[in-house]
Amino acid sequence: MNDVSTNSAQHGGQLGEGYGRTKTQDADFSHGIALYLENVSVWFDSFRALNDLSLYIAEGELRCIIGPNGAGKTTLMDVITGKTRPTTGTAFFGQNYDLAKMSTEQIAEAGIGRKFQKPTVFENFTVLENLLLAAPRDKRVKQSLFSRLDPEAQLALDETLEQIRLKELIHKPAGLLSHGQKQWLEIGMLLMQRPKLILLDEPVAGMTDAETERTAELCLELKKNHTLVVVEHDMSFIDTISEKVTVLAQGAILAEGTLAEVQANEDVIEKYLGR
Ligand code: ADP
Ligand code: MG
Repeated sequence: MNDVSTNSAQHGGQLGEGYGRTKTQDADFSHGIALYLENVSVWFDSFRALNDLSLYIAEGELRCIIGPNGAGKTTLMDVITGKTRPTTGTAFFGQNYDLAKMSTEQIAEAGIGRKFQKPTVFENFTVLENLLLAAPRDKRVKQSLFSRLDPEAQLALDETLEQIRLKELIHKPAGLLSHGQKQWLEIGMLLMQRPKLILLDEPVAGMTDAETERTAELCLELKKNHTLVVVEHDMSFIDTISEKVTVLAQGAILAEGTLAEVQANEDVIEKYLGR
């Protein structure tokens, strides 16, 4: 038995064929669609977390996804980011990236950035250090931890600091930020990767009203240059930012439309909002 061949076989299986390229090609949005999910089901043993779900997100869209706990919202984001594989169905980023065949790292490199529910900033590092750590490695001039950035990455840093409004706090350890500021820093860390599609899972959970308002402004700003998918429970937040809303329940789409439309939908009232 030869260790090398065993390893490479495992490796090949994980990464999928055709994605070993050194330079990431751009996602092809020429049909106007950033994300295609078609008939996606996810089974965990005998439990079906996503049930034959089809979802299309247009380039430049800001889609809100709402629905009761356990509806499959986080699982949906797991499928898009490669953390969970669809049991059946297909998931494409643009025309050219078959997400089911890519590793989580390859998906991130292809331009999909995700913010998880809980902030995962490095508490002992400053705001600036956190952002620098999030910059893609090949954008750092020297391969050291806090090396200087190339001009493009420096521009991303300046823009990001402007957007997340933490410019005055760049030397503050992240552990001393408020909950809302930590969330914004984490969004900033995402932006340093220059993603095309941004996924935010419950971004305003635990925020004060003022922080929630500021986050809504941030989402609307991000919409100018990104495609966004936002999962949230906070209806006034959704009302501020939303165009099209998708309601998920039991792993399937219950309704789609404006917030007012889905709020008036009988199924949605029964299964989610309550009477
Ligand atoms: P939501 O984010 O809408 O609250 P989730 O996607 O987290 O819902 O979960 C959907 C359902 O799938 C839940 O019932 C959850 O318990 C189940 N689930 C999620 N991940 C797993 C897993 N890794 N193994 C087994 N069940 C899971
Ligand atoms: Mg969730």
